[in-house]
Amino acid sequence: MSDLPSVIRTTGIEAGYGRVQVLWGAGLDVRARESVVLLGANGAGKTTLLKVIVGLLPAWGGAVWLDPDDVTTWRTDKRVRRGMAYMSEIGVFPGLSINENLRVGGQFIEKTTLKRRMEELYSDFPDLAHRRGTLAGSLSGGQRKMLGIAKALASSPRLLIMDEPSAGLSPLFVGQVIEVLGRFREAGLAMLIAEQNIAFLDLADRVFTMDGGRIRFEGSVAELEADDGLHRTYFGLA
Ligand code: ATP
Repeated sequence: MSDLPSVIRTTGIEAGYGRVQVLWGAGLDVRARESVVLLGANGAGKTTLLKVIVGLLPAWGGAVWLDPDDVTTWRTDKRVRRGMAYMSEIGVFPGLSINENLRVGGQFIEKTTLKRRMEELYSDFPDLAHRRGTLAGSLSGGQRKMLGIAKALASSPRLLIMDEPSAGLSPLFVGQVIEVLGRFREAGLAMLIAEQNIAFLDLADRVFTMDGGRIRFEGSVAELEADDGLHRTYFGLA
């Protein structure tokens, strides 16, 4: 795994809102076929870093590389065309149908390719296939999350970036989301998952922890568990 090239790499990212700096030199990378979890509490800066990676927020300093390009100043759509897909915490457009959401997700790919891709996704997500015309806003939280994942995958990305896929879900649905993402991981999709829920560590080939806008740790789940301080922070005192 470690010999594979990085699909995405950030170095020394500084960013914030207005005059308030949130990120202080954040660096991480995701290699081809690798699933990486960015673990941190509320307000640690995970969403801010993902937004810089996707191009929704400018970097004040540092760089974002999407193999093989320095994409730091690229617009989001150009990054998406080059293989990034992003699922925000909300993930779908509630006023659009399932079918329309998938079309939005795949808007940059050619029409017949998208048609084929949507059929593949409907076979991966059979619950969505039965209700193509249903408004996303009328789906349950769990189904909406599945649609968010399918929408992000509509463009056949080489890197899937997700902001807190567990947000708003009961533990049962969290388990289902992890199971679905596990299948795509097996198929070799590179993933970057920002989470505070340690259940997602089941999916992690590598973990970064974030705190106060800085990356504090990089390593395997076993290494994270072996560090007393980090173990207390993320797994409680048990
Ligand atoms: P969460 O799980 O709550 O989303 P997070 O780790 O993703 O947490 P961020 O959302 O990146 O953290 O927030 C990092 C810091 O930036 C917090 O102090 C937050 O208050 C601040 N922040 C986030 N969004 C904005 C904004 N639009 N304007 C000003 N400050 C913001």
